[in-house]
Amino acid sequence: MMMPCAKPSVLICRLQRALLTAALILCCLVPPIFAQDALAPLAQPEPRPMPSSLMVEGGLRLETYFPSLIQAGAGLLRLSGDGIQGADFSFRGETGAFFPVEGDGWYALVRADMDTAARNYELAVRAQSDAGAVTFSRDLRVDPAGYILQRMTLAGERAYLVDREIEEAEFATLAALTRSQQPEALWDTAGFELPLQSALATPFGAFRILNEERETRHTGWDQLAAVGTPIRALAAGEVLFADRLEIRGNTVILDHGHGLYSAYAHFSELQVAVGMRVAAGQIIGLSGNTGRSSGPHLHWEVVLRGEWIDGLVFLDMWLPV
Ligand SMILES: [Zn+2]
Repeated sequence: MMMPCAKPSVLICRLQRALLTAALILCCLVPPIFAQDALAPLAQPEPRPMPSSLMVEGGLRLETYFPSLIQAGAGLLRLSGDGIQGADFSFRGETGAFFPVEGDGWYALVRADMDTAARNYELAVRAQSDAGAVTFSRDLRVDPAGYILQRMTLAGERAYLVDREIEEAEFATLAALTRSQQPEALWDTAGFELPLQSALATPFGAFRILNEERETRHTGWDQLAAVGTPIRALAAGEVLFADRLEIRGNTVILDHGHGLYSAYAHFSELQVAVGMRVAAGQIIGLSGNTGRSSGPHLHWEVVLRGEWIDGLVFLDMWLPV
């Protein structure tokens, strides 16, 4: 049984993208205004939104909280019913486990990466309950994200950072750091917020040509930030990495649990250490211009189970705690 979409979060996301694109154009013309001291208070806990779809099999309910995914998008699944002992999903060749939330149900985040072809894919869910095994199967559509092309020039002493081997070595470092999955959620009811209030510049997923020779992808979002601007944690988590990388410069990586990570690059100063717990919105460092950067800005990115996800998806996503 399918219910109509009660909360068109993808439409909101697309509207947000259109506004951000307009902001991107504007930010090229207008110097950003930095207003860290005027940050809005963190969001209060919200009630769980209405699901976008519902399937019922063997006395169990499978809900989705998104009508479709976009490339490099993520969406929340909820499984509920009596006597559930465990469940896993498979989607686009990836298999993962649902995690329980006490007194609520079982949840999983499904994802598409930035190179996922836009079409329908089968989502299969296998649950084990006291009454036996229950299987769900349905199609999930992945929509195109409409990535832009950007040409970028790095001159002088940083020009060597366009090197493919340096970038691939850094990707391998990031992959090794974010390979594990904390078995609990470290985010809290504050959810996810932008790391600073300033114009969004280069968008996630952009195809990039560096110095007219090297093709690569933009793995996060850039936000304009004068050197020394305080940068805040997107969500509550634990500091996994706080050190220098070749391309990202001085970098902080936060572990938010269940394979979800956020990273913040090009800092002038790191203000956290590995192992520290940070609250959502806590200042973790000061922005800068270190690493492969052509001017002062913040680059931030989100990884879910080893794939870069468009972090904006998490800003309006309700997550169980
Ligand atoms: Zn960037």
